[in-house]
Amino acid sequence: MTYLRVAARRNECCKVLCTTCGGLPFLKGVMRAIGCSFVMTRPMSLSDETAIQLTDELKLLDPAPIDRADIEPYVRFLVCQIEYSLGVNFLSERLKGSWAGLVLESMIDHHARLVLNRDMRANTDKKTRSRLRDAKAMRLAIRDDAKARRDTEYRRGRES
Ligand SMILES: [Zn+2]
Repeated sequence: MTYLRVAARRNECCKVLCTTCGGLPFLKGVMRAIGCSFVMTRPMSLSDETAIQLTDELKLLDPAPIDRADIEPYVRFLVCQIEYSLGVNFLSERLKGSWAGLVLESMIDHHARLVLNRDMRANTDKKTRSRLRDAKAMRLAIRDDAKARRDTEYRRGRES
């Protein structure tokens, strides 16, 4: 897949879910490069056969270390397209032991961390909210207490 290097050099868009081009120019280029006649009309619309073919191409990918950083975003983009058709389990099974497999693993780690952070944030929010609730309850209790004391003093004042 020397096309990935070409795309990187041309700086083709490979933003996942790009609202401007959907990464279609790049995807079409990849399809042409692997000799696939499938006509892309929108992203995330790979047929299963095409997705499998693409997976096997990715598995063969063994870029020189110096090219890896340039190519990786394009691989990530393709992985997303394939995952949409075939699922992540198929992908990680099929890509096992390849460089693209490592890219996929780092994506899964990254995603897991995002989800974890989100959950942690939600938990912290919950804790903060309950602490705020406690603090408010405490303030109300103190106020009621002060009011009760004032009332008692007032009553005592009238009685004496
Ligand atoms: Zn774009």
